[in-house]
Amino acid sequence: MPRPLVLMAVPLLAVAPLLAGLLAPPAAPGLLAPPAAAAPATDQPLAGRVVALDPGHQLGNGRHPDQAGRLVWVGLWKPCNSTGTATAGGFPEATFTWRVTRRLQARLEALGATVRLTRTTNSYDDWGPCVGARGRFGARVGADLAVSVHGDGAAASTHGFFVIRPGVREGYTDDVAGPSRRLALAVRGGLAGAGFGYSTAYGGDGLDVRRDLGTLNMADVPTVMVELGNMRNAGDARCMTSAGCRDRYARGLAAGITGYLAR
Ligand code: ZN
Repeated sequence: MPRPLVLMAVPLLAVAPLLAGLLAPPAAPGLLAPPAAAAPATDQPLAGRVVALDPGHQLGNGRHPDQAGRLVWVGLWKPCNSTGTATAGGFPEATFTWRVTRRLQARLEALGATVRLTRTTNSYDDWGPCVGARGRFGARVGADLAVSVHGDGAAASTHGFFVIRPGVREGYTDDVAGPSRRLALAVRGGLAGAGFGYSTAYGGDGLDVRRDLGTLNMADVPTVMVELGNMRNAGDARCMTSAGCRDRYARGLAAGITGYLAR
C-alpha cells in the first residue's frame, strides 16, 4: 500500500527545515555580516596609494627653444627638455604620451589610486617642465612611485617596448635603484601581459638601464621610464595612433603598477 506512506512523508519533509533550524547552534554575531562587505578591498587595490605620472614631452617644447633648451643640472648638465619624436605621418610623441597617460590615470583612479601629473595640458603654447622637476615631482607630491611615459624614435626597422630604470648614481639614485628595478620588472610584465612585444633593439629583453636621464636621476621615489613603441616603425605607429591600442598600453601599465604596489 504505497499511497499512505507518501502522504505521511509530506508533513515530515515540511517540518525538517524547522527542526534543523532549532537544532543548529546560534550564529556568532560576526558571521551575520554580509559577504559583500569584503568586496571594496579587492575592487580598489590601490586605495590610499599615490601614483605620479609624467606624460613625456610637452607639445610646445619645439616652439619655446630658449626655455626648453636651457641647461639644467641633473647629476650632469642636460637640456631642460626636448621635442620628442613623431610618427612618419606626423603624430607627435607628446600627444601619444598625453592620451595614454590620461587613459592610465582613469584606470588607476578606478582602482582607488590618487594620480598626479607633471603636466596638465598638451598644448603648443606650453613647454616643460624641465627634466629635473619631472624627476623631483614624485617625492614632492608624496607618490609611492613615478612612471614617465614616452614613445621612442629609433631606426624604423626596430619595434616593441622597453622599460628604462635608473642605474646607481651615488647621491642621486642609490636610494631608489633597487625598488625601481622591481618596478621595471612589474611594468614589463604588465605590458607583455597586455600583448606587447619587447623591443627588438636595446638587447631584446625589454629592459634598459640609464644613468644620464634627468627624469630618473632626480627621482626620490621608485621610478621607471617606458618607451611604449617605436614611433618610426610603421607597425608600432599604426598601433600608437589608434585609441584602442593606447587603451591597451594603459591597461598593461596599470597592471604593472598594481602588481608592484599590491605586493
Ligand atoms: Zn620621449
